[in-house]
Amino acid sequence: SKYTKEDIIRIIRENDVKFVRLQFTDIFGTLKNVAITTSQVEKALDNKCMFDGSSIEGFVRIEESDMYLWPDLDTFVILPWHTRHGKIARLICDVYKPDGTPFEGDPRYILRKAIQDAADMGYSFNVGPECEFFLFNTDEYGHPTTITHDTAGYFDMGPSDLGESCRRDICLTLEDMGFEIEASHHEVAIAQHEIDFKYSEALSAADNILTFKMVVKSAADSHGLCATFMPKPVYGQCGSGMHTNMSLFKDGKNAFYDPDSESGLSEIAHQFIAGICKHVKSISAITNPLVNSYKRLVPGYEAPCYIAWTTCNRSALIRVPDTRGVGTRVELRSPDPACNPYLVFAVLLQAGLEGIREGMTPPPPVSANIYDMKEADRKKLGIENLPADLIDAVECMEADPFIREVLGDHVYTKYVEAKRQEWKEYTTRVSQWEIERYLNKF
Ligand code: ADP
Ligand code: MG
Ligand code: MG
Ligand code: MG
Ligand code: MG
Repeated sequence: SKYTKEDIIRIIRENDVKFVRLQFTDIFGTLKNVAITTSQVEKALDNKCMFDGSSIEGFVRIEESDMYLWPDLDTFVILPWHTRHGKIARLICDVYKPDGTPFEGDPRYILRKAIQDAADMGYSFNVGPECEFFLFNTDEYGHPTTITHDTAGYFDMGPSDLGESCRRDICLTLEDMGFEIEASHHEVAIAQHEIDFKYSEALSAADNILTFKMVVKSAADSHGLCATFMPKPVYGQCGSGMHTNMSLFKDGKNAFYDPDSESGLSEIAHQFIAGICKHVKSISAITNPLVNSYKRLVPGYEAPCYIAWTTCNRSALIRVPDTRGVGTRVELRSPDPACNPYLVFAVLLQAGLEGIREGMTPPPPVSANIYDMKEADRKKLGIENLPADLIDAVECMEADPFIREVLGDHVYTKYVEAKRQEWKEYTTRVSQWEIERYLNKF
């Protein structure tokens, strides 16, 4: 590993760090943190830092609430922004029970299990996410709005792009924290941006997404803007996705690449795609977790709605970009940045591994633009739709024992319960749309 306990204690002392944030997430991927002063750091590094799990959504009941945070030393970083009270560092933690076993409700543990299953088969799992987000104005009280003065579009440059200096700030901050930024650009919708960082092994990729969101939110704040990863904040505009690029490596080589096959894609890549296709509907409630997520997955906005894969266009759910060799990868285009990345990578990896273990064959790739096809033609080709809304997705999830298997009973039960409740709240509310449409007419 990158650091020892002693290294961290020394770095903290040498840099005059005053606080350390111990971070973890709840099952919905919300970042939680316990701040400690440096006097408590040795205790924390000895895995002796306790917190009350009953106050965290999706964790545990009062009777069994004591949880321990075990810092992952490799995640140590000094936050590069300045505060009046000295420097702050952070450590991402695994959550353990008092008996010293991992807590089943910790999303990082669920991903670790999937990674171990892959390792048992000789694979490591690499993920490169493309996170999109919006930068909006805040109102006079500093509250978020969906208002923007931005008028730029895809790949546009300043001065029309008011978010540009904020975006530049985000990139520099992330580089200070050790990220390799591959690209950053204005996205299709007004006020929408994308920043791509280099792929890494799945656990650190998921950690990076949490760090990324934290940095984006904080940079937006210091520019008087607000950042949102809500999947579809503005009707009639493109929503924000989190395209997920994946590959398996074996013995240091990309196992999706086969120079001897016509397409350059290996048998393993095909089997991995087959596994994802098989479970993609039941995975939707994880990759697209909100009521709002399904308002992004509609035709006309470059977001996928049909289950198909392709090597030659950008409209399909699963795309294999042209790159071969070490960059050979499978891109799943449905996930959105409101997801819990630990759970998403765990279910995707396990689905792909199942495809490999069972030697599955994917449906034939589709080269035509699926959005131009009539429904009857899609039916003929056996192209199914993704779930239409959150409740449809939850029902697909319940119909597939695979998800419960991967998440474990604890997270599965809490997740389904919470999502059903979210749906019920949504459907019983009277929306602005209803008022506009019905109030005067009836
Ligand atoms: P797009 O062409 O879909 O816009 P981007 O260039 O924005 O794609 O992002 C591609 C992502 O894929 C980056 O995060 C990159 O690091 C990642 N990537 C490249 N090679 C691999 C690989 N072998 N496995 C997983 N991810 C990869
Ligand atoms: Mg991109
Ligand atoms: Mg690109
Ligand atoms: Mg994009
Ligand atoms: Mg993409």
